Amino acid sequence: MESTKLNRRDWLKSGLLSIGGLAIAPHLSFGETPRVFPNTDKYGDFLYSPFFKEHINKPFAEPKALLAKLNANENPHGPSPKALEAFKDAAVKGNRYAWRELFDLMEKIAEKEGVAAENIMMAPGSSDLLEKTGMVLFLDGGNVVSADPSYMSLIRVAEATGASWKGVPLKDDWSHDLDGMEKAIDADTKLVYICNPNNPTGTITDGKKLEDFCSRASDKVPVFIDEAYLDFMPDDVQRSMVSLINKGKNVIIARTFSKIHGMAGLRVGYVVAQKEMLDKLQKITRGGMGITYPSIYAASASMDDTVFLEKSKKLNTESREHVYASLDAMGMDYVKSYTSFVLFPIELEGKAFLKMMTEQGVGVRSFEIHGKNYCRVSMGTMEEMKIFSKALKKVIV
Ligand code: PLP
Repeated sequence: MESTKLNRRDWLKSGLLSIGGLAIAPHLSFGETPRVFPNTDKYGDFLYSPFFKEHINKPFAEPKALLAKLNANENPHGPSPKALEAFKDAAVKGNRYAWRELFDLMEKIAEKEGVAAENIMMAPGSSDLLEKTGMVLFLDGGNVVSADPSYMSLIRVAEATGASWKGVPLKDDWSHDLDGMEKAIDADTKLVYICNPNNPTGTITDGKKLEDFCSRASDKVPVFIDEAYLDFMPDDVQRSMVSLINKGKNVIIARTFSKIHGMAGLRVGYVVAQKEMLDKLQKITRGGMGITYPSIYAASASMDDTVFLEKSKKLNTESREHVYASLDAMGMDYVKSYTSFVLFPIELEGKAFLKMMTEQGVGVRSFEIHGKNYCRVSMGTMEEMKIFSKALKKVIV
């Protein structure tokens, strides 16, 4: 039952919504998502928009011993053995700043991406670059256009810096509403943010349509495309927006070593963008200096370890298939995923669900999207996925 639709229209028709005691008219559509204050409620849950809430699992947030930690889209198979060896060998040089070595890595990445090294900015994880972009581009206010729901890291920093967020609801098939987003761009828009594949939904927007959109929209405002999960997509649908760089388009593409490379704790990420954009970001922030000497070597070695990268993708697909089969067997729906996590609707209230899963030793995430509760489970090892499905079975009966 993989065809879960985002029934936002039915939900929008259903009358007034109340979030955190705040009544919000149901007629809101693209580009009109207002800021919700306060954006956490008394239970510590994040109220990102009237349509999108994240349940936070307190006081169980970080239990010491989870049997299956499936709440942060980490890759259980990494780092690659070659990356680990390179990391260990380089640790002895930890008394030095790694400027020269970082530049070597930037050149290697530039070659892989088919751009010049001056088009690359690195940082300890792509979060760092999402946040720096969110801060630097909104120092004079303005608004940011993105999908709702989507990954909130850049949006939250932009809002905190003084921007407003124009969240455009995803379409019923969970893809980006590119027409709606284009209409939402106005004179105050400083950036469009697109996460493809999207988090927390795991869904994709057609590559050709997205490229046309980015090409047109970036003539008006910069477009930031977060490709954290792109490597998990089947090769025939995978389409990076990096190709727009050599066409002179004002796009910023974020990539990370945290997902397919399994290096979330080693912290390496980068953006590809026009030199003028990177000059703007680097005038007041520094990214690369935050990456440790050994992590630079680990990233370089991981890029060469294609056997590991292919294995990572294959095992991720197998875990995903297991989740689909388990949910099918339980008669549950899910959203078809192109990533290292799966989103599926749950009948239980999200916070209670998190607590029950944690009591079973399983860490997952829970969101409320258009009034419906969902679980987001990250792909772990097959053993962890079996622990997950067993726990879920117990919790939903
Ligand atoms: N972008 C997306 C869509 C993510 O889901 C994540 C992490 O989960 C990140 C960026 C940040 O990753 P990192 O800072 O580890 O590179």
